[in-house]
Amino acid sequence: MLLNLTDVFTSEGKVKELSVPYEEKTFSYMGNEYEIKGDTVADMKLSNIGTGTVLVEGSVTALMIIPCDRCLKDVKVSVSADFAHQVTSPDQEKGATEEASDDTSDEEQNFVSGYELDTDALISNEILIHMPVKVLCKDDCKGICSVCGHDLNEGECGCDRFVPDPRMAAIKDIFNANKEV
Ligand SMILES: [Zn+2]
Ligand SMILES: [Zn+2]
Repeated sequence: MLLNLTDVFTSEGKVKELSVPYEEKTFSYMGNEYEIKGDTVADMKLSNIGTGTVLVEGSVTALMIIPCDRCLKDVKVSVSADFAHQVTSPDQEKGATEEASDDTSDEEQNFVSGYELDTDALISNEILIHMPVKVLCKDDCKGICSVCGHDLNEGECGCDRFVPDPRMAAIKDIFNANKEV
């Protein structure tokens, strides 16, 4: 949703706390689309920390369905993020807050447009940064058989996985047969 920050930008010392619903139901990551379970709500605190400057702090937890890296079974993954961003009003002169440029003020803020804070864009950003590198259904997931696709967590399938894929072997036979003709 779009939050108009005008009143917080202009009222010295103003603090506003609110719950913000995250309106996305899926999340795109590295070319995949993941389902977001249930309602995701971010707790946010907006503080005026000087004329035309607002500190946006908050936290969010999203529950996502991501397939296990090894066996592809759906795994419920909870992605949490804490964040703090300094946002500057568009009529605040550039360079006026130069002394504060040591922290977050110089980062790219694609979630601010004019006086409005795009909370969905901000939350998407945070989830993106906090996505897990690896998703496993359990630490010792055995994955699936590369020959028959059997879930090895449910026991051995009996395949000899040290021989090449039989389909590949068949193609090789045809190839060799043709060569001999
Ligand atoms: Zn697994
Ligand atoms: Zn197998």
